[in-house]
Amino acid sequence: MRRARTAKKDDIAKEKEQISLDDVACEKCGGADHPEWILLCDSCDKGWHASCLRPAIMLIPEGDWFCPPCEHVSTYWTKFKFTL
Ligand SMILES: [Zn+2]
Ligand SMILES: [Zn+2]
Repeated sequence: MRRARTAKKDDIAKEKEQISLDDVACEKCGGADHPEWILLCDSCDKGWHASCLRPAIMLIPEGDWFCPPCEHVSTYWTKFKFTL
């Protein structure tokens, strides 16, 4: 299973797109440090430090990852559909 994307640029990505991948800042603290720990949302493409999440996560999760606002929306709609 693939892992959630992070802001860390691997060598291939560096060669292919040198432009926009730089400096993905964390939505929570605004920092771009430790890009290997900045998770990229699969819905809105924004970055969040694993340690800035509440609760913080200590591992890069497998599969898709959604930031708290997106996760909130999807949870809301799942519940909404369920109660219908
Ligand atoms: Zn942060
Ligand atoms: Zn998102």
